[in-house]
Amino acid sequence: MEKFTKITTGFVVQSYEKNSAGEFVCIAQEFIAGDQVDYEDAEGNSINPPDHRYQPFNMMLPTATVIKEQCPDSPSVEIKIKILSEDGQVWIQPQGYGEKCSTDGEGYPIGIEIWQGRLRLVVFEDINSEDPQIIDLEKAREAVRMRCNWCKKEIDAESIIWKGLLFCSESCLDACRAAQ
Ligand SMILES: [Zn+2]
Repeated sequence: MEKFTKITTGFVVQSYEKNSAGEFVCIAQEFIAGDQVDYEDAEGNSINPPDHRYQPFNMMLPTATVIKEQCPDSPSVEIKIKILSEDGQVWIQPQGYGEKCSTDGEGYPIGIEIWQGRLRLVVFEDINSEDPQIIDLEKAREAVRMRCNWCKKEIDAESIIWKGLLFCSESCLDACRAAQ
């Protein structure tokens, strides 16, 4: 058998909340699995399932979470956050924050996307301006962490540079020069 279908009976719970435009929108949803689970082969016949990896019943859209004031000296503040994932982009909407070109409650001022091979943030930081700030994230790639060219150990800025290459110590530099 190459494939089978797992059918779980249960119910979907969707939470609705009024947005700033006074409209009820779904802010979270989850699937509550019941007791009845059936397994079928490709032809729809009931089967005993083979061993398989468990898949949680995640329902990705929409998601909501809360952020809180981080400075202990400031009054406590909470902002609800909605996360929208669509068309290969992820958009973030802190409640009460939006974009010039969207009606209140519909704007997502923070986005993350891939553009021409580069990971980037798109941030609309001013509701009176249409132009976003683009923050390129390619320097955050784990692959560009500065490493010693010889022993590959992670190093910081005050390392030894020789012919444009970085070294953690004189001994690594000497070893590299000897190998040239
Ligand atoms: Zn080294």
